[in-house]
Amino acid sequence: STLFPYTTLFRSRTGTVIVTGAAGGIGRAIAEHFARAGAGIVIADIADEAGRAAAAELEGAGARARFVHCDVGDEGDVAGLIDTALAFGSGRLDVLVNNAGILDSADFLDLPLAEFDRVLRVNVRGAFLAGQAAARQMVAQVKAGGEPGTVINMSSVNSKFALPDHVAYSISKGGMSQLTKAMALSLARYNIRVNAIGPGSINTAMLAQVMSDDVVRRRILSRTPLGRVGETAEIAEIALFLASPAASYITGQTVYADGGRLPLNYTVPVEGA
Ligand code: NAD
Repeated sequence: STLFPYTTLFRSRTGTVIVTGAAGGIGRAIAEHFARAGAGIVIADIADEAGRAAAAELEGAGARARFVHCDVGDEGDVAGLIDTALAFGSGRLDVLVNNAGILDSADFLDLPLAEFDRVLRVNVRGAFLAGQAAARQMVAQVKAGGEPGTVINMSSVNSKFALPDHVAYSISKGGMSQLTKAMALSLARYNIRVNAIGPGSINTAMLAQVMSDDVVRRRILSRTPLGRVGETAEIAEIALFLASPAASYITGQTVYADGGRLPLNYTVPVEGA
């Protein structure tokens, strides 16, 4: 991947980027991409072992990285995350990537209230808490004459599409795109930009498992004009772009990377079907 114009983003190698849910999957790829662009990385996750391993791997590759145990739905954990990130980054926070997210799986009629609450607590309340705490810090930096930071929220094509068996998830991603707009409007006067990424089907451990079922694979690909699932790196590249000066006039948007799913009305033929 080309690092131009992203190298200008962290040319001093002092930039600090928090990525929540970066112990694995898309978040981990985002952490790797920002590390390669020269940023110091704070991995915030509840998966301690995988999170520590991810941070150690980044350090092994020559980056500055550390892991922080943080449940994004917990106000105290989030406050601790910001404190740790500031100590790590010499008082400076440049980017928050609100990536942590979880999924419910039951039909609407059967969805237990506890499941509804569990998903919205992480996906919406967590993004709000981390977003507000990071933004307060970024505003303080701007008022002190520093550079504005930027926030990137992980939404989904499910901010537009609803799924009857992932109801709380669908609601949460609709909320994520609205949170992105509200934050962008509130923070525009500080030149702090807030955008979201809306992935379609991305090749993570969870998806690899469902893609091994031929019926599911065909169903997914019949709704994917580019004919393949996306790679985590293809999402990470967008995060880097949105955080970079190349995106200096973009705020409040959700950028969809879905292989053409959202423009599609019916279905496309699937190879080997
Ligand atoms: P993943 O399960 O691999 O990663 C999610 C990470 O979040 C995990 O490391 C998990 O430990 C962490 N996490 C869970 N609860 C947390 C909490 N309370 N506090 C902090 N961390 C927590 O999933 P992924 O596929 O990499 O998804 C990452 C994001 O991308 C999610 O927001 C998801 O909704 C979104 N997304 C994924 C896809 C896809 O196809 N994989 C598509 C659209 C959107």
